[in-house]
Amino acid sequence: MRNYISDYEQFDRINAYDGTLGVVCDGETTVFRVWAPFCTAVTLRMYTGGEGDNLIQTLSMQRKECGVWQVELMHTCYGMYYTYQLEFEHRHLIETIDIYAKACGVNGERGYIPDFRALDPEGWDDIKRPVCENPVDAVIYECHVRDFSIDGSSGIPDEEWFKRGRFAGFTVEGTKCNGVTTCLDHLKELGITHVQLQPVNDYATVNEKKPFAGQYNWGYDPKNYMCLEGYYCSDPEDGDTRIREFKELVAALHKAGIGVILDVVFNHTYYTEDSAFHKTVPYYYHRLNHNGKFSNGSGCGNETASEHAMYRKYMLDALRFWVNEYHIDGFRFDLMGLHDISTMNMLRDEMDKIDPTLLMYGEGWTGGESPYPTDKLCFKWNSYDFGRIGLFNDNIRDGIKGGTFNLGDRGYVSGADHAFNAIKRGVSGNTRYKSLQGTADDLCWSFTPAQAINYCEAHDNHTLWDKLTISVPDAPEADRIEMDKLAAAIVLLSQGVPFIQLGQDFLRTKPAVLPEGVEPNNENIFDGNSYNAPDSVNKIRWERKAEHIDVFRYYKALIALRKSSQLFRMRQSEELDKHLYFHHCSDIVCYELVNDRECYFIALNNRREERFVKLPNGVFYRRLDEKGRPDYHRCSGTVQVPRLSCAVFKRLFD
Ligand code: CA
Repeated sequence: MRNYISDYEQFDRINAYDGTLGVVCDGETTVFRVWAPFCTAVTLRMYTGGEGDNLIQTLSMQRKECGVWQVELMHTCYGMYYTYQLEFEHRHLIETIDIYAKACGVNGERGYIPDFRALDPEGWDDIKRPVCENPVDAVIYECHVRDFSIDGSSGIPDEEWFKRGRFAGFTVEGTKCNGVTTCLDHLKELGITHVQLQPVNDYATVNEKKPFAGQYNWGYDPKNYMCLEGYYCSDPEDGDTRIREFKELVAALHKAGIGVILDVVFNHTYYTEDSAFHKTVPYYYHRLNHNGKFSNGSGCGNETASEHAMYRKYMLDALRFWVNEYHIDGFRFDLMGLHDISTMNMLRDEMDKIDPTLLMYGEGWTGGESPYPTDKLCFKWNSYDFGRIGLFNDNIRDGIKGGTFNLGDRGYVSGADHAFNAIKRGVSGNTRYKSLQGTADDLCWSFTPAQAINYCEAHDNHTLWDKLTISVPDAPEADRIEMDKLAAAIVLLSQGVPFIQLGQDFLRTKPAVLPEGVEPNNENIFDGNSYNAPDSVNKIRWERKAEHIDVFRYYKALIALRKSSQLFRMRQSEELDKHLYFHHCSDIVCYELVNDRECYFIALNNRREERFVKLPNGVFYRRLDEKGRPDYHRCSGTVQVPRLSCAVFKRLFD
């Protein structure tokens, strides 16, 4: 295929289409519309199956305005599968799925036309989106659908085995392992407010027809952005099943008061020349280098061009679809640094029109070099230009546990003094907090606390527990557990939006599968990039929860404490200047949160010895000890903070 476009801006001015694309079925007629301005003819091909030799009809489409091709049928097409056959000059024919397909057959090869209303769970329209007034009220829990429940220890009964590792795994209540809750009940017990699902839209590299072939992927290999992944449903060959089962997941979480955030990977397409985007409009949806070749800002072979009108519209239409059809509560943008700022602000504005509490945040970096101007992209250093969209806070992450890409590097909890100021900045949400002027000023990027997504563990890189095992081999396990808990305290008691990975709350570990002949050592026994590793690496072993129930209870107590007071969830940067004070306490980070009604004093002792700190004036009690429990003995003046612990004191008001 050749590139027909010499000037993209001019091309968009003439050819961009702002009407509805895809299939619209109103119950009586069905209209198909595809934007394919370079085609000389387009044919709709209708099938009875998602694959195989079952073509039943072909229909010529008519060229309309802006290069849109359309055909209208005087009947409904529910249950049918379809593709487009695109003809380019010299009778070059290409068959492809519709990029606007809202459902698909097995392995995402053909679009599917569902009757969405017929797939709604009971009471769907009455199940309300959980209220989250401000992003700082959220506690986000990142989950991979398969990891969550694939193991027998999930407690999902054997007779319901087909729900394990699938959307349906989120709908089973009353599950236990060794006497403690698992799965959905675990989410409720922990107290998180939102589940962020690793990609659940259709991805490429897992063969949906072989669910038991030991395949695995995180899902950052997107194929169809408005379709669900078939690997996570009980019948990928039936176009309806994945939709019904995913809606049941959303319904189950919403009934439990938990919001659902989707991880969206708009930054690249898994296939490049063979992607439906390039097949439909060659060289339009991806960015190109000066030499006309695909640029690779994602590190995955290409990057999309959000600044092009029709990809911008595509992202917008996709988000609106997920929110309106599936009642999704927010989006996490993978490699958001590849999306242009104007587009992301437009998406934010559009989401505001639906519901301003819909969450939007992403990674403020890329996976390679983009040809697009860096001052126009959603890099973290441009944060003020998109202040209502959150950013993963890699500063607090690395400050807590040490640099991600240097395995031996230590952070605050593992005893690194150099991380002191990074932690102070993190506690203040990386905002322009006045009292810290002159202290790690380069770490001040957050427009409001809501922009900082605070974390120390996510699916990428080693788990916190594995990182501690590698980087602090001299510490006994009991000490490393205290370090883990201290890390959790920093994430959950800092200003901003806390984010935890599934299983982090019971010391998740990812034991590596070593190639034959490779000798295990302290570093290679853990997997730091398990995107396609087997279940043995990725799956949640729920028995760990009972084994480390103290750690779980501590995380749970931190979440409850965070929810109990607005002081942990300040919304405006100016509030910090009035209500947050750092104290000079020997060699550890201590701070006070105070308003007219409440006062907390928090000491983060990262030393392997106890420390003595001076409380502010007044009488206090220990609101949270190292077990996550309150101790109601009154105290004042100088108090002891046990080694490797976070002590939270609360002032007693008369
Ligand atoms: Ca797939």
